[in-house]
Amino acid sequence: IQQLSKQYKMGGETLKALDEVSLVVNKGDFIAIIGPSGSGKSTLMNVIGCLDAPTSGQYWLDGEEISRLKENKLAEIRNRKIGFIFQGFNLLSRLTAIENVELPLIYRGVPSKLRREHALEALRKVGLEERIHHRPVELSGGQQQRVAIARALAGNPPILLADEPTGALDTRTGKEVMGFIKELNGLGHTIVLITHDPVISEQAKRVVRIMDGKLNEEAGGRNELHTGV
Ligand code: ATP
Ligand code: MG
Repeated sequence: IQQLSKQYKMGGETLKALDEVSLVVNKGDFIAIIGPSGSGKSTLMNVIGCLDAPTSGQYWLDGEEISRLKENKLAEIRNRKIGFIFQGFNLLSRLTAIENVELPLIYRGVPSKLRREHALEALRKVGLEERIHHRPVELSGGQQQRVAIARALAGNPPILLADEPTGALDTRTGKEVMGFIKELNGLGHTIVLITHDPVISEQAKRVVRIMDGKLNEEAGGRNELHTGV
């Protein structure tokens, strides 16, 4: 990401949610973006996740400059490369665990038999093979988040974006979910994690602080080697 800005127009006012931020995330990185409420974390996540376009600046993903692409092309890249994990899990309450995990595969046009197989494998990875026919209300908070992680994993996307993945969980369950996210990084997924919690950000290899839409990389995190920025 190079000198990327995002402005929101509200009435006559312009709000700079991201102010010329630059960031390099390498394949296999586990980076935490930490900052207070309103600092621009979700705005940055939406741009990185191809859910929203920046107002100016450049975003290179796997060597392709994608900041000016139209929504249909962005959606195609998003579906192929990025899995999302949200604070509120965003599971559909009418659907069972396995049906929730299959959803993104339906969007991707994966045939039904293969869809089941991939979904089952993803649920197995998060240790929920015994709960595949449970609906979200029949699962604990941590189990619901594991279903959401399985859903993010189902298409085997190289990049996982997690926006406050432990925000709705108690400390112990939050630790367990962070354990999964770390394991996924060990398996080669690139992780971008957004949090306001310093204890959570310590799990990452790199920590980047965001304040009023500006980024600053910190010493710290688990990795001695800091690349980028
Ligand atoms: P939180 O920790 O509370 O989730 P955040 O760091 O994710 O906060 P953002 O949601 O990125 O913050 O918001 C950054 C700034 O942009 C805030 O001042 C917010 O009010 C503003 N903002 C966010 N989305 C919009 C929008 N769609 N329209 C106008 N302003 C917005
Ligand atoms: Mg947010």
